[in-house]
Amino acid sequence: MHFHVLTLFPEMILSGMNNSITKRAVEKDLIRIDAIDIRAYTADKKHNKVDDYPYGGGAGMVMGPQPVYDCVQDVKKDLPADTPVVYLNPQGRVFNQTIAQELAAHSDIIFLCGHYEGIDERALELCVTDHISVGDYVLTGGELPAMILMDCISRLVPGVLGNDTSADVESFHDNLLEYPQYTRPEEFMGMRVPDVLLSGHHLNIETWRRQQSIRRTLERRPDLLEQANLTPKEQKYLKSLLEEAENKENEEKS
Ligand code: SAM
Repeated sequence: MHFHVLTLFPEMILSGMNNSITKRAVEKDLIRIDAIDIRAYTADKKHNKVDDYPYGGGAGMVMGPQPVYDCVQDVKKDLPADTPVVYLNPQGRVFNQTIAQELAAHSDIIFLCGHYEGIDERALELCVTDHISVGDYVLTGGELPAMILMDCISRLVPGVLGNDTSADVESFHDNLLEYPQYTRPEEFMGMRVPDVLLSGHHLNIETWRRQQSIRRTLERRPDLLEQANLTPKEQKYLKSLLEEAENKENEEKS
């Protein structure tokens, strides 16, 4: 997987990604991260300028179309024709695990990071294939969102995680949140690890974990359950949880 990040702050990308699992993935050549300085493409070499006042007035500065357009075209020229050009944008579709999986299917991804008030709309119309947001809030630039996407997508690249299967059992896989995790000691502050996890009985552990995932998803993200892939037995378990919650609510009311 080769990430091409177009930014006014390449150092931010390189230092942010040069840690922990992503650092090791780069060292093992499983992923590659190029941070390309959009400023290097400005035609205004005298002032090295990339932004200007917005037409029509208003606060802040807007990144001009020329350096962005030229930078995208230069990076794109040697890449597969279907390479996504993702503009990190609070107005885009909100990033999730499904979008991460879609993007992970490509060999190359271009990320375009805005700054200030954003990028001239014409450059976006000409270059961008996808607008992606990291949530309904506004940040100062697209660099942190690009790092979030790269971190998440990297975990889906075979070999990046020590254990290849671990991305398959985590939250959002199957539209369920992950079950609770425990490690040593068996007892901490009077709280014991659930007995089933110490039993060594793999089937019981698997059943307990699935049930905990369902319970937790119902409590924390019930919206996900509509798309979850549950067996008939698990659907019955979910029904029992819903009945339990309804009874509790009725008891509280009376
Ligand atoms: N004026 C823009 C608006 O109201 O939609 C916001 C511009 S924001 C201050 C500057 C840049 O940060 C954007 O161009 C975008 O690249 C990035 N950005 C800010 N919030 C983001 C978010 N929630 N998701 C993705 N990118 C974001």
